[in-house]
Amino acid sequence: MDYTYDPENIFAKILRGDIPNQTVFENDHALAFRDIAPQAAVHVLVIPKGPYVSLDHFARDASADEQVGFMQAVAAVSESEGVDAGFRAIANTRSHGVQEVPHFHLHILGGQQLGPMLPK
Ligand code: AMP
Repeated sequence: MDYTYDPENIFAKILRGDIPNQTVFENDHALAFRDIAPQAAVHVLVIPKGPYVSLDHFARDASADEQVGFMQAVAAVSESEGVDAGFRAIANTRSHGVQEVPHFHLHILGGQQLGPMLPK
């Protein structure tokens, strides 16, 4: 796999502070912010601060501290967003997964009944 990272992708610009975001949570290794086009009552994106293009890239190459920090951000978001009734975490990956932004991000969707995982 080629995991070449494009530093001009929109989430890299958010991390650099070049464009604004609605931050929900931040720690040393991850940033969580509201999706600009929410597809559910709660729609937050959790991204690592490191240059990883996809979930598999992050899982392969991120340090243990980065991986723990990322998952702690997921826990913080699930708590602060009031999704006790449940949520869905989605990591769209490359072409078949219809990934638009080439910086790993986990969609946290909830706040309502989400229905089937995929359209029939
Ligand atoms: P994906 O198809 O998984 O790559 O999804 C990318 C997501 O990023 C989409 O849900 C977009 O609405 C969201 N998005 C794109 N630009 C921004 C932005 N500037 N701030 C917040 N979310 C964004």
